[in-house]
Amino acid sequence: MKPFHHALKIDKELCIGCTHCMKVCPTQALRVVEGKAELLANRCVDCGECFRACPVSAIRIEEDDFAEIFEYKHRIALVPSVLISQFPEGLPPEQIYSTLLEIGFTDVFEVEHSVDLLKEEMVNHQHNLKKEQKPAISTFCPAIVRLIQVKFPSLTQNLMLLKPPFDIAAIYYRKQLEDKGIDKEDIGLFYITPCAAKIAAVKSPVGEKQHLINGVINIDSLYNKLLHKIKNNKSTTCRVPVENNLSPTGILWSLTKGESSVMPGRNLAIDGIQNVMEFLEKLEKEEVSGIDFLELRACDESCAGGVLNVNNRFLTVEKMEQRAEDLRNDKRTKPEDPMNRHAEFIIKKMKLVEPIRPRSIEKLDEDMMKAMEKMQERSELMKVLPLFDCGGCGAPSCMSLAEDIVHGKASMDDCVFIQSMKVYEGAEDKEDAKKRLEKIWGKDRINTYRHKK
Ligand code: SF4
Ligand code: SF4
Repeated sequence: MKPFHHALKIDKELCIGCTHCMKVCPTQALRVVEGKAELLANRCVDCGECFRACPVSAIRIEEDDFAEIFEYKHRIALVPSVLISQFPEGLPPEQIYSTLLEIGFTDVFEVEHSVDLLKEEMVNHQHNLKKEQKPAISTFCPAIVRLIQVKFPSLTQNLMLLKPPFDIAAIYYRKQLEDKGIDKEDIGLFYITPCAAKIAAVKSPVGEKQHLINGVINIDSLYNKLLHKIKNNKSTTCRVPVENNLSPTGILWSLTKGESSVMPGRNLAIDGIQNVMEFLEKLEKEEVSGIDFLELRACDESCAGGVLNVNNRFLTVEKMEQRAEDLRNDKRTKPEDPMNRHAEFIIKKMKLVEPIRPRSIEKLDEDMMKAMEKMQERSELMKVLPLFDCGGCGAPSCMSLAEDIVHGKASMDDCVFIQSMKVYEGAEDKEDAKKRLEKIWGKDRINTYRHKK
């Protein structure tokens, strides 16, 4: 299996080894080595929790260079409905879209146009499920899909094999431009993302061979560009007439209960990665039953809480709900949604072409016999480790340290309690103990600490 692409990068120059990121990571994907955070690529699900927790902004979220859009003749901004709600009150969507055109895009399209077709397919999918495939789990949030692959592999069979709205919007937009005779090579689709997980999903897609999106731009950096232009632009004329044909369901789809409110049967909507994990643990242990559909989102308040958004998540939700309400009250005849003209083609293409496979991080070895031996070794180590989960060894918990030891990446002496006991009993030289601490926390930090004393 291809390795996961990760959008999160740690800047070692800025990292102060504070372990805040390590403590919040839901998949124990971080370690501290020589005083700097390190990412274990097979464990990270790009949820962005570490990014939120870092006090010195040493974690950044990679994006494509904005200048790349100019490599294409047709430059399409695929925007999520949360984008509009980032801007100050009183700024109409038309003005934001016009500014997107002014900075270089040739077309702007809200990805939630795909929701009405997707919703029907999700309902059909649910009707055809076998008992063991219930509850069906939405694939909307890519961090959740990865979380299930690595931490709850037995639940991958419950994931709905349907693409999320931004993928479907890309299928539609490419199709309609190609139908007009535009060369494939001239079309550049750029998704404006509220989170890191969607970047990772575009760069290493799950359940499909290749993504139709050419690049991803982060909302926070684009917001600054747009706001600067809007402030300096004296003219209030808007070049883009925004069609009022995005449905209220579409606008609210990326918020909590956006999907579950339209699905039949017994449904739950859970947001926040820790809440999701707590529920999935129960589901895996078969402690809950009778649920038909699960909407699971990694961020608190779903996409309104995306790490790249600039507005407060609760204010974002309020603005999106108001926009949906205004649309409900708008009695003017709405033009037909442009996607309906290609409905048959899109429905065929919205299914994932490959199954979503487990990538368990719980498995200690590919070879069954070796995995059993390592599991035994891990249990033995756990009997000796203090079980304080203090993080002093540079791993988030005693269990993580035990696993690192069986994988040959750490040693029992990395445990600060065991080390202190060895020094106390004269089984380890003080200088060796200091070198061990330096290996975890870095020479500079240990020297600074000694100086402080
Ligand atoms: S993005 Fe999430 S899973 Fe990855 S290292 Fe950060 S907290 Fe852990
Ligand atoms: S939160 Fe993590 S990346 Fe940020 S400074 Fe602390 S250890 Fe380094």
